[in-house]
Amino acid sequence: MTALRDLLLDRIATNGPLSGADFMAECLLHPTHGYYTTRDPLGAAGDFTTAPEISQMFGELLGLALAQAWLDQGAPTPFTLAELGPGRGTLMADVLRATAAVPGFHAGLSLHLIEASPTLRKVQREALSPYDITYVDSPKALPEAPLFLVANEFFDALPVRQFVRDAASWRERQVGARDGVLVFGLSAPVEVPALAHRMEDTRPGDLVEICPAATGILSAITERIAAHGGAALVIDYGDWRSLGDTLQAMSGHKTADPLAAPGEADLTAHVDFEALAEAAAPLTHSRLTPQGMFLERLGITERAQALANRLSGAALSDHVAAHRRLTHPDEMGTLFKVLGLTRAGSPPLPGLTS
Ligand code: SAH
Repeated sequence: MTALRDLLLDRIATNGPLSGADFMAECLLHPTHGYYTTRDPLGAAGDFTTAPEISQMFGELLGLALAQAWLDQGAPTPFTLAELGPGRGTLMADVLRATAAVPGFHAGLSLHLIEASPTLRKVQREALSPYDITYVDSPKALPEAPLFLVANEFFDALPVRQFVRDAASWRERQVGARDGVLVFGLSAPVEVPALAHRMEDTRPGDLVEICPAATGILSAITERIAAHGGAALVIDYGDWRSLGDTLQAMSGHKTADPLAAPGEADLTAHVDFEALAEAAAPLTHSRLTPQGMFLERLGITERAQALANRLSGAALSDHVAAHRRLTHPDEMGTLFKVLGLTRAGSPPLPGLTS
């Protein structure tokens, strides 16, 4: 029995069932019991790992892609370099190391991070100790300046609401309680204007997800890029349109029951990139591109070979495995996707096509 489960059971007893989004938000970010607020979950000793933790090549190539986009837009200064959900700070450290030689890039940038977890903020400050960091609670607080932003495995951590279709309406999938145990249930039928367009491509019984927080976050980013230029690179797992239950719990690198131990397991849902692209209007979006293809276009094979020349033994075989893990279709190469967002008329982003 976790402390957070007791709190949630009390809350349900008083106020009734929770939406999936409220449940996810409590599990991930409850101030004292939330998964992210209480720990550093990344890496071999944690519950999951991410591309920047697998190899330095990921952050290096993203950094060079952002710097090239900045050059292609006329190297505007000052500009904001920002990251959503920077984890251990590894990706940003690799971005900054790889771009140190790009003339004017470091001199012109102002580094902004958006991170909800005090525990991870501490880890990020250490990883990025040579640099000045400004933390903002929301993209609404980013400077009025060109914005070059990256978000890897951030949007999948935002809370989703789930709806199961009836003939002409929806029932929300909620978290309730039975005999002192958390259980999923369905609400009475409700109208959901945000899902009007999903009546065409779904049938009774289908489940669809929406992520209200993603829309709010993207609209603030969109305002900056639309007004001042810049680019956003969003990397995550998911697809162009969500269909089906993608809520997943991970604990100790294994999938777990999302209701079993609130606050003790990571909870994620697949990203609906179509919804992100729509929330980013009037920005233009790239084609949704598989991570493996994106990294190949940015030159990961050449970078991997250059690094391999300096390695031997176990370090070399780890490096070869990491390259494969990031790019191979059976690993992260096709499950993870990249979406680029820019102002209409900006040059296409490196590694992406329009
Ligand atoms: N980008 C990193 C970490 C991914 S894990 C990597 O690739 O390794 C998700 C990150 O988003 C964590 O840093 C987590 O604390 C942060 N996060 C999750 N929900 C958030 C929210 N609502 N606001 C700000 N940060 C959040």
